[in-house]
Amino acid sequence: MTSVSPHKKARALKSTSRRPAKELCSECGLCDTYYIHYVKEACAFINQQIGELEEETHTRSRHLDNPDELYFGVHQDMMAARKQQPIEGAQWTGIVSSIAIEMLNRGIVEGVVCVQNTKEDRFQPMPVIARTPEEILAARVNKPTLSPNLSVLEQIEKSGMKRLLVIGVGCQIQALRAVEKQLGLEKLYVLGTPCVDNVNRAGLQKFLETTSRSPDTVVHYEFMQDFRVHFKHEDGSTETVPFFGLKTNQLKDVFAPSCMSCFDYVNSLADLVVGYMGAPFGWQWIVVRNDIGKEMLDLVKDQLDTQPVTSKGNRKEAVQQSIPAYDKGVTLPMWAAKLMGVVIEKIGPKGLEYARFSIDSHFTRNYLYMKRNHPEKLEAHVPEFAKRIVGQYKLPE
Ligand code: FAD
Ligand code: SF4
Repeated sequence: MTSVSPHKKARALKSTSRRPAKELCSECGLCDTYYIHYVKEACAFINQQIGELEEETHTRSRHLDNPDELYFGVHQDMMAARKQQPIEGAQWTGIVSSIAIEMLNRGIVEGVVCVQNTKEDRFQPMPVIARTPEEILAARVNKPTLSPNLSVLEQIEKSGMKRLLVIGVGCQIQALRAVEKQLGLEKLYVLGTPCVDNVNRAGLQKFLETTSRSPDTVVHYEFMQDFRVHFKHEDGSTETVPFFGLKTNQLKDVFAPSCMSCFDYVNSLADLVVGYMGAPFGWQWIVVRNDIGKEMLDLVKDQLDTQPVTSKGNRKEAVQQSIPAYDKGVTLPMWAAKLMGVVIEKIGPKGLEYARFSIDSHFTRNYLYMKRNHPEKLEAHVPEFAKRIVGQYKLPE
């Protein structure tokens, strides 16, 4: 008689059922599968265990006394890169999609977990296991909404697939790492992106409507290193809105509670991370965490221009000033916001210092959110590295 894995006896939750992490749930998809069996250990919002999982994944946790590791996690290399021939319609230059395609074409993996959108709505996420380059390309560009990427995990076991690439953001990857050994895979590759300030679909609509001149034609947006949100519209035009002009008072409740309590901005448990915030404007930022990540990056190195990462400016004062301003929901008049944007772009933090600016601003905000809304979880939920980062600033009560 063959034994049945205990998780196979578990039942996925109905889509309407309340999730175990309650309002902090990021809809990562784990609870849509029988792997819900492991939710108490695996959920990033119930059992924060970045340090332990770093050790399992990268053979060691980050060196807290190394300033770059404190901020960016375990890594062996960091660089700025861009594709010599960008993929049209990708979020940046398409490094993520290119690596996935290369891994599939060379037979290194049999499938790629990524997220396409539904036919009706370009921002409604639809996780898939892609088995062709076309299916990977159809998943390019960010779906700036909570996405249940792990909801396809049951399909992996059923398909008999043994070598898999998963693309995802931090909360999805934490839960994935916690159940990795149960998936029956011979080899798992993890390609992560940083992630912050995500929203559910209704929240996205509110953000677009309060911020863009034409919410229905936005195909793509990003909070960029020049301290502006860049919207790209269907007709190819670009609209920019300075961060300091955002209607903070109206947007305060837009971000998902999961993202207001997340301290894994840089996707600590991926093998390779591809973002933008530590790189010069127009370039992507790459963090190679371990040998598997290096193997993945090497596959596309001949398609990339690269340059070393740099760092300029001092973020500390700007972060300290932004803490009470955000807390009180201060919105500047547009002329002042534009002026401030121009000044800060000229003299403000650049490269890795910009990335630290963004991490500090979000960690201080999220620490306050946890302290006020979930004080009983604060101690165990905030990782040691985040406590050290937040400890550099004076926070309001
Ligand atoms: P592409 O080749 O266009 O591929 C994008 C990949 O992202 C696709 O494979 C798709 O499967 C995956 N994806 C899309 N939406 C989601 C989603 N909701 N959840 C999980 N996976 C998804 N980088 C920073 O440096 N700083 C940030 O603050 C930051 N915030 C981000 C917020 C979100 C919600 C997301 C999804 C990404 C964020 N990134 C951030 C990463 C950055 O925007 C780019 O995604 C990354 O640089 C890859 O660009 P690319 O052109 O190589 O990707
Ligand atoms: Fe389940 Fe994921 Fe939500 Fe946690 S975040 S409750 S694991 S769906």
